[in-house]
Amino acid sequence: MEKHVTDFYGCNVFNFATMRARLPKITYKSLKKTIDEGLALDESVAEIVASAMKDWAIEKGATHFTHWFQPMTGITAEKHDSFISPTDDGKVIMEFTGKDLVKGEPDASSFPSGGLRATFEARGYTAWDCTSPAFVKDGTLYIPTVFCSYTGEVLDKKTPLLRSMEALNKQALRILKLFGSSATRVTTTVGPEQEYFLVDKDLWSKRKDLIFTGRTLFGAKPPKGQELEDHYFGNIKERISNYMKDLDTELWKLGIAAKTKHNEVAPAQHELAPIFTTSNIATDHNQLTMEIMKKVAIKHNLTCLLHEKPFAGVNGSGKHNNWSMSTNEGQNLLEPGSTPHDNTQFLIFLCAVIKAVDDYQDLLRLSVASAGNDHRLGANEAPPAIVSIFLGDQLTDILLQMENGKAKEKNYSCMLETGVASLPNLPKDSTDRNRTSPFAFTGNKFEFRMLGSSSSIAGCNFVLNTIVAEVLQQFAERLESASDLSAEICALISDTVKNHKRIIFNGNNYSQEWVEEAERRGLLNLKSTVECIPTFIKDKNVAVFVKHGVLSKSEIESRYEILLENYIKTINIEALTMLSMAKTEILPSAFKYSKELADTINSVKTTGMPVEISAQSTALKELSSVLSSFTSNIAALKKALNKAADDSSDLLSQAEQYSKSVVAAMENLRTDADKLEAIIPRIIYPFPTYAELLFNI
Ligand code: ADP
Ligand code: MG
Repeated sequence: MEKHVTDFYGCNVFNFATMRARLPKITYKSLKKTIDEGLALDESVAEIVASAMKDWAIEKGATHFTHWFQPMTGITAEKHDSFISPTDDGKVIMEFTGKDLVKGEPDASSFPSGGLRATFEARGYTAWDCTSPAFVKDGTLYIPTVFCSYTGEVLDKKTPLLRSMEALNKQALRILKLFGSSATRVTTTVGPEQEYFLVDKDLWSKRKDLIFTGRTLFGAKPPKGQELEDHYFGNIKERISNYMKDLDTELWKLGIAAKTKHNEVAPAQHELAPIFTTSNIATDHNQLTMEIMKKVAIKHNLTCLLHEKPFAGVNGSGKHNNWSMSTNEGQNLLEPGSTPHDNTQFLIFLCAVIKAVDDYQDLLRLSVASAGNDHRLGANEAPPAIVSIFLGDQLTDILLQMENGKAKEKNYSCMLETGVASLPNLPKDSTDRNRTSPFAFTGNKFEFRMLGSSSSIAGCNFVLNTIVAEVLQQFAERLESASDLSAEICALISDTVKNHKRIIFNGNNYSQEWVEEAERRGLLNLKSTVECIPTFIKDKNVAVFVKHGVLSKSEIESRYEILLENYIKTINIEALTMLSMAKTEILPSAFKYSKELADTINSVKTTGMPVEISAQSTALKELSSVLSSFTSNIAALKKALNKAADDSSDLLSQAEQYSKSVVAAMENLRTDADKLEAIIPRIIYPFPTYAELLFNI
């Protein structure tokens, strides 16, 4: 392989450099314009691009192409077609037309549609998304596409994201115009930091729970966890380091700008962060990153766990969604900036985000809700389930002063002048670090920290883009009709602060005081996925998606159903896996040990010696007592599961049953199993323990 990163970076991507080299100038220009300006694609261009793409892909060893899409499963889907086309003389030529590039028709009957597409009408369509580059992987040309039904309803995660980016572009440009900007396009940008665990594959393969559910359903706390805080940023072990190097190489070849890697808080936990790019490409790249993380792990006889909570008692994994907006002129709209003009503009965009987050707390919370993430949010490691914004003391102080119309000069360490009399000057680096906030301003972007590690980032980003677009539209309408723009801007900022300052919180989000304070402020505290899902179909939330053309009412209803179904299925699989492990693995091992103890007691007795056997009999008594409770908890889980599975009233109440009684029964069973694990000798206990999984690399 090529030696230098600069030589092989992006070598498997049909990127602008490749396009420029391989396409006729006029085609290249036309395609670039389509991509940069979001214009409709010229059909004749597709034909030429397809041909160049095919030649390039074949040179890279590709024999097939696939329309790569992102159905509601949260992962990606692909169906491979070869380029071959038979000729009369018994040979083949390699063919790939503009039509092949632009449109595909996969059988869509087995993807979640939430009732949008009856199985008999199984046709689904994929359409080329030229804003994310095609690439070659494992002998196939991958074409990023959107996925919809025969009747045009959206069945994927990418389409609403693209639509939301369009909505935000439209409204942000209106605001920019008021400030005299000449920008013609605003794009949202994302840099997702991805957390993950690595465990030894041989150990992993001995645990059904990890295989079927991605997390451990049983496992007693090991003597050492993360309390010494010696793993975070600790030096990276050789086996892990080799993995990370391989991973970087594979990602770089695909043009994914993997930048930062380090050990995380929990033992065996790590993080990878790429350099940010457009929300759309970042989403595709994050999907690829997760896939490649798993693939590369196998080569190193490791398994990569992307679940939000693979191990109880140590930190789970999240995905920090760093988000901003920038113009085609390269201006980051959340950069406080250095000119007076820009700073006022910055404050307006900042206020738009503040209002959006407050008005749509429920949607943001919903966008990160999943069965896996229920173990994280609110536990003492991730942000709580309450959505709030961290701005830092200085920015908060400025906004609070502006609430009353005028702002006094303060002696901030590093100031930027706003130059507007009524506006205070801005601190340059306005953020101290606050690791506990779910939505933190970090200098020139917001970091949304609630997202779970396995989720597609499309969901939270289309929500974020849509709600900010909505507020920007409200702002634009008010400012466009103002007779005195400067005065109206100040009034708008003041009103926003007055009405929405409750969402700003700079303190410790993990504390109980905050939970109480948030309640006093009237902020939502939606603790579980099932509590969140109904917010999707609330009138105000349906209205905002419909208004901005991001999702239709029926698309929202279908997604509501998919979320519930997905939750139910996840808990159902977990409960069944637990029952299977409990009955066929833990129980037999407990019986075996109980026999060993009983045999020991009998053997000692048969010696006829007058010796003490209380140690053996105490052990047997203890084992038998836990065993008896364990057995009745198996029965209780079975009962709860059957009851929930048979509930045919409606999906929501069924999901509620799973979330309450099944989850509670699972917890009880686990408690007993973990007690058994602590009693039964490891050579008898049927699967690897936490100590082995977390510390054996
Ligand atoms: P942390 O201190 O939280 O680890 P970093 O400063 O390393 O954060 O950056 C985290 C992520 O934020 C990176 O992926 C980076 O590319 C991304 N990022 C930086 N600027 C922006 C921006 N304007 N828009 C979106 N993401 C950004
Ligand atoms: Mg971060």
